[in-house]
Amino acid sequence: SGEDPAAQRITPMMEQYMEIRAVNPDCLLFYRMGDFYELFFDDAVIASKALGITLTKRGKHLGEDIAMCGVPIHASDDYLHKLIAKGFRIAICEQTEDPAEARKRGSKSVVRRAVTRLVTPGTLTEETLLDSARNNFLAALVRVAGSEDEGVRFAVSWVDISTGEFRVGEGAPSGLSALLARIEPREVLVPDRLAQDPEIRAAIADVHAALTPLPGSFFDAATAETRLATTFGVQTMDGFGAFTRAEFCAAAALIAYVDKTQISRRPPLEPLRRVADRETMRIDAATRANLELFRTLSGSRAGSLFAAIDRTLTGAGSRLLGERLANPLCDPGAIEHRLAAVAYMLEAADLRRDLRARLAQAPDMVRSLSRLALERGGPRDLETIRVALKSASAISDRMGRQALPLPPAIAETCRELARVPADLAHELGFALDDELPLLKRDGGFVRAGYRAELDEARALRDESRRVIAALQARYAEETGVRALKIRHNNVLGYFVEVNAGQAAPLTAEGGAFIHRQTLANAMRFTTAELGELERRIAGAGETSLRIELGVFDHLAAEVEKASGVLRAVAKALAELDVTCALAELAEAESYVRPEIDDSLAFDIKGGRHPVVEQGLRREGQSFVANDTDLGGDAGEKGGLIWLLTGPNMAGKSTFLRQNALIAILAQAGSFVPAASARIGVVDSVFSRVGAADDLARGRSTFMVEMVETAAILNQAGERALVILDEIGRGTATFDGLSIAWATVENLHDVNRCRALFATHYHELTALSARLKRLHNTTVKVKEWKGDVVFLHEIMAGAADRSYGIQVAKLAGLPAAVIGRAKTVLQMLEKGDRTRPQQAMIDDLPLFASRPKPSAEEPVAESPTLKSLDGIQPDDLTPRQALEALYELKRLR
Ligand code: ADP
Repeated sequence: SGEDPAAQRITPMMEQYMEIRAVNPDCLLFYRMGDFYELFFDDAVIASKALGITLTKRGKHLGEDIAMCGVPIHASDDYLHKLIAKGFRIAICEQTEDPAEARKRGSKSVVRRAVTRLVTPGTLTEETLLDSARNNFLAALVRVAGSEDEGVRFAVSWVDISTGEFRVGEGAPSGLSALLARIEPREVLVPDRLAQDPEIRAAIADVHAALTPLPGSFFDAATAETRLATTFGVQTMDGFGAFTRAEFCAAAALIAYVDKTQISRRPPLEPLRRVADRETMRIDAATRANLELFRTLSGSRAGSLFAAIDRTLTGAGSRLLGERLANPLCDPGAIEHRLAAVAYMLEAADLRRDLRARLAQAPDMVRSLSRLALERGGPRDLETIRVALKSASAISDRMGRQALPLPPAIAETCRELARVPADLAHELGFALDDELPLLKRDGGFVRAGYRAELDEARALRDESRRVIAALQARYAEETGVRALKIRHNNVLGYFVEVNAGQAAPLTAEGGAFIHRQTLANAMRFTTAELGELERRIAGAGETSLRIELGVFDHLAAEVEKASGVLRAVAKALAELDVTCALAELAEAESYVRPEIDDSLAFDIKGGRHPVVEQGLRREGQSFVANDTDLGGDAGEKGGLIWLLTGPNMAGKSTFLRQNALIAILAQAGSFVPAASARIGVVDSVFSRVGAADDLARGRSTFMVEMVETAAILNQAGERALVILDEIGRGTATFDGLSIAWATVENLHDVNRCRALFATHYHELTALSARLKRLHNTTVKVKEWKGDVVFLHEIMAGAADRSYGIQVAKLAGLPAAVIGRAKTVLQMLEKGDRTRPQQAMIDDLPLFASRPKPSAEEPVAESPTLKSLDGIQPDDLTPRQALEALYELKRLR
């Protein structure tokens, strides 16, 4: 063929690229070239589209143009962020040697490069890529056959490599969704063969996590325990507690994946801790979504429960509060512990103010610790630790002035704070300069006076600069060229430069000047003296950089040595922040301390919805508080069910949700929006609302609702709190009513849990005659001049009517439609309810109120007209004519 053989040759750089590309097939490859990361071939096409950046070409490969795009290093975090958010994973390939080294090996040789890390949604550590208020969990999931009586079991382990938290838990398949919803991982590792399982895919999709299938070797059971023991540098894992084999597999898979993505650099991890399912309230993904705990149904953080109650001042505090809210406790003693601490801080207003002033200054220490351990940290991470330690000791001092006794949780925090390593804090203070660069690479962060050799080297460097200035003056004088300059660039180093026309004195035979370069209008020279100076300056620069990097490594090592204590201190700061924030919330929002015990009480006086209340206040309106009492009588085993009827917009959903939120807040250790609250521990909360279509899973609204209702009826025990809103709405009236009916019966007789059930089927209120623990309640409304006024007051009784038409009127339906609807309603109400359609067709003058149709509009047939059309007067006998007349009269 006539092809140019050169086009078929692969350049050495492309060869290197292809090799690295082949090892990282499922990643976009960020290939470092100078000040850019470049992407090639399909990567470039994908990334340019995903990032909205220009796609260009660079050379040819096997005769074809190579597609390319690039992102500048300094802005690369932004681009990484976007790609990660879109679900991509990225391999970062860096230059691992100075280009000068490569040049020394030969003019054609390529700078050495290697992948230094894989960036995936679950393995982020950069401040800019992380949300300071949220953990960034990576989870691993395994499924095991389990023993005969146990059936299939799951183990899930999760780790946040930016903070070191490392947990594991195990459970039955029915609890998987709740467990994942609680963790909210960003990425879930699953063995290849499980990755196709539709249930598992759905559970992971529900929490919006990325699914990463991995070969079975990552989960190898035979080596899992040993791999973990090696990670923690212990002989056996026995000291960490008892774990199942499946738990070991999940945890070991995480370690293997972290090694893979961090290229064998290990973040510091907390000891693996087992989280027992029974310790915390079970809240599945659908319930979390319905209750809008962390995100509203439309996906925004603003408007969620968390956003409404978070008054923390630090990132670590906000993460801890989030963790508590996601995992409400079930042990009254542990809850009491937290509540006592909040109560103390609520009382001690001065102390709280002082602490919060200092907490506001305390930066996020754990994430800096992780970055330093991953060798990704810079001088500012050291500074973060210095400042955090300073805040911690100030807070510790302030706490020390507090009169005893302190509640146990706060006393414990004080003991941890007292462990601040003062030496380390001082040393960091002496070592670090006031203004710090982001990267350690170029030095310039060690304070003058910290290392004598460094001060010397810097003096030499600065001194040399002065010597050069003096030399320039002397050369100008000696040559008589006033414009003579000594300059510097990376290719030539230092050189003497004069205008081309003035070079004569320098080029004279026997002079000190050696010609280096001629440009269009300048000539450049060097001298032996200048060469010598250059060596000294470069030497001094190198020396000081070497010393600075040494100082950095020394400090990082000291930090690493103290990392256990530093973590404990960071944790104590976070705890204090949360406790103060909850006290602040209780004061600002008038929340009360709930009473939590082992009973089955659910007695809320003057309860409010924490989010709706704040929203109404912003609009200058106030929230109507309501009581709830779901505790059964002593003799009756089981909680009460409140059947709530009332018009749309009356406040039924708000009331239902506020009760679930109060239980969750209370057991998370917060005060609650009520005048008083006594709650017997709730071990699970279930909430269903007439759900939105789940198009992703191809289920209709009704199907979703039924699946979720089935889950409740199958799982809710006597300690559950169940909230059902408009169950059965998505199907035909009688189907829906029947399902709602049977659901109430089941809750009452089988589940026997505390429940709130809002419905628009008034027929259900009849059930209270038969079901002892079913109470009819309704929302009070007032009619005023034909309109409804919602009073939002819950009271005993059943709604007499639904006021749907009045609500429709409020919503702005045309007056003609409202009028017509009223007529139909009257008809329906007096007619035979089993044959409503027939009554309507037969008895209602369908077009009586309609204006005459215009000429173009096809005339809609009335029964009278239709009947008239069918009459041929010429063909009728007198008797038939009379009958037709009667018929027409009837139709009219
Ligand atoms: P429903 O479920 O009966 O249709 P919602 O619970 O959605 O009614 O409430 C409708 C609106 O009424 C809410 O958006 C809120 O603004 C207001 N509302 C509900 N409950 C109260 C209350 N207790 N106090 C004041 N306003 C309320």
